[in-house]
Amino acid sequence: MDKRKIAILAILVGLIVFVLKLIAYFLSNSVALLSDALESTINIVASIMMFYALMLASQPEDRGHRYGHQKAENISALVEGILIIIAAILIIEAALGRLSDPIPLENIDLGLIVSISATSLNGILAWAMMKEARRSRSMALEGDAKHLFSDVVSSVGVVLGLVVAVLTGLYVLDSVIALVVAVLLIRMGVGVLRKTTRDLMDASCEDEEMVIVGVLEKNQDLLEYHDLRTRRSGTTVFMDVHVCIDGKRTISEGQGIVAKVEEELRAVVPGIVPNFRIEDETQCKQHRTEGKG
Ligand SMILES: [Zn+2]
Repeated sequence: MDKRKIAILAILVGLIVFVLKLIAYFLSNSVALLSDALESTINIVASIMMFYALMLASQPEDRGHRYGHQKAENISALVEGILIIIAAILIIEAALGRLSDPIPLENIDLGLIVSISATSLNGILAWAMMKEARRSRSMALEGDAKHLFSDVVSSVGVVLGLVVAVLTGLYVLDSVIALVVAVLLIRMGVGVLRKTTRDLMDASCEDEEMVIVGVLEKNQDLLEYHDLRTRRSGTTVFMDVHVCIDGKRTISEGQGIVAKVEEELRAVVPGIVPNFRIEDETQCKQHRTEGKG
């Protein structure tokens, strides 16, 4: 399934799940189920944002955006990470209020059945999205899938907690479980934020650099290289490097060598956009003694 279809599906499922969870809350009056419903509203917003980010990211480069629009995916993941944390804070607020003053839950059986149906829907969608995110290495999709998965985890925790609460009559568990779930959500939100911030800050692509160095060092026509730089934008890896080629070779020979290296790089690093600066021994030596090597 293509990313855009998944995003539209996510918006529709998000709406259905939200309505179901709201019904579950009104049936049972459980603060845990209310927080579950609250998180779903953020799912819908997040899915709409993901859809927008995907539309923007898939646009080819234009005059104003020579490096493409793929950072839109990172920004989407950034906002989503923040939304996950806001959801957690809302849950904590609702649960703390009920903690000292627990109330018996009504119609909890029906509420749980409705909630479990909604959670199953979310679970199937999260699984499909994670599969597609891994395949296409999409940050936006991965952020959304993780968010949705966090929703599934919290819902399962809520249902289990409520079952125990009903069986034991310890209605304070309703709030306690909601608090535990909130902490898990914060952890997940921070994880999404850290990953996308790395890319937004143009952190080096360490794994890719190891592979690139392997290709550069293996090539006998490259006497040396320096100033290797990489950064990630969406699924694209931008790479710059200075390579040293025997000064006795012609310009077209030099370009042929670089074209071969480029081809090798494309074969082993998906989404790479390599950029070479060709130098001869003298230039290379000078360049290094200038302290850039
Ligand atoms: Zn150089």
